[in-house]
Amino acid sequence: MITFYPGPSRLYPQIEAYLGDAYHSGLLSMNHRSQPFMKMLSAAIAGLKEKLMIPEAYEVIFVSSATECWEIIAQSLTSRTSYHIYNGAFGKKWKEYAHKIHGRAEGIAYQLNEQPQWAPRKDTGDDILCLTHTETSNGTAIADSVLSSLRASFNGLIAVDATSSMAGVALPWMSADVWYASVQKCFGLPSGLGVMVLSPRAAERTKRIGEDAHYNSLEFVLDNFRKFQTPYTPNILGIYLLGRLMDSLEPVGVTAGVLTRRGAGLYGFLAGQGFELPVREAACRSMTVITVEAERSVVAGLKAFALERGIVLGNGYGEKKETTFRIANFPAIPDAEFEILKECLLNFKTANRL
Ligand SMILES: *Cc1c(COP(=O)(O)O)cnc(C)c1O
Repeated sequence: MITFYPGPSRLYPQIEAYLGDAYHSGLLSMNHRSQPFMKMLSAAIAGLKEKLMIPEAYEVIFVSSATECWEIIAQSLTSRTSYHIYNGAFGKKWKEYAHKIHGRAEGIAYQLNEQPQWAPRKDTGDDILCLTHTETSNGTAIADSVLSSLRASFNGLIAVDATSSMAGVALPWMSADVWYASVQKCFGLPSGLGVMVLSPRAAERTKRIGEDAHYNSLEFVLDNFRKFQTPYTPNILGIYLLGRLMDSLEPVGVTAGVLTRRGAGLYGFLAGQGFELPVREAACRSMTVITVEAERSVVAGLKAFALERGIVLGNGYGEKKETTFRIANFPAIPDAEFEILKECLLNFKTANRL
């Protein structure tokens, strides 16, 4: 089976051997305060920071998912308003969760072919601006230049959901204070682990707020990770796999180059074959999640046609669930599978006289 589903997505092939190694290592039956566990955690964080080019001063913690990061940010990093600038389902869901937790979330929607903007208003420095780097639901992404100008015009912290781009895109770390992702997208790992990256400013605000009412209160989690421990028994297997994977990967700049070339090729192919691309502005297009729009019957027909040939396409999401499909351009998917996909799309067109 070939899958272009944008999460859970195709695993890196080396994961199979790592699963066996994890079993035989004994780590999975070890106390999470033991020396071997702490050493493994420390190496996984070092490997991640090295391969993803995370600034030295930024701290890394592992949690269970991107969704948990929404909760942690709302509980432990929001002292005043959280402003959520979004154009799709994940950004909107984040705002809704935050609002249920603290009741001070404000949404600012923007359009599919636009970039987020911040019009200076009530920002006091105690606020937090929440952005979705790659909106997995519609295939848009925020340009680096836009993040850097948001950084220059917003006084408070900036938090970015990078679930569908971290480990596939060279992220501009210094343009934000909190970055997070789940590993079942661009990391090509099994689900059940979240990665959260925090700037020194984010750590300071965590300390100042000092929220300590939850098992995942950020100050408590950070204190533990600084000793290479975790507050609760973590996903040891997930951390092990991530650490091993980091050893095997190229630096993220190399991976990002490959994805950009492949993504641009795919956008070109799709447009050339008459497929409609709802994200028309090239600057707003994600290189890791590509959305294609078509009539309901064509989308249903194509997904079924592909599935009969062993190819899984991503369903549409949210409002355009039935009139779009998505193609993950994640690093674990080999080039050869994209050639098979292109052939399948051509065959579908011929079979349906499109
Ligand atoms: C997948 C995804 C999430 C949710 O990830 P979970 O692992 O289910 O918590 C959040 N945000 C974005 C942008 C996503 O793509």
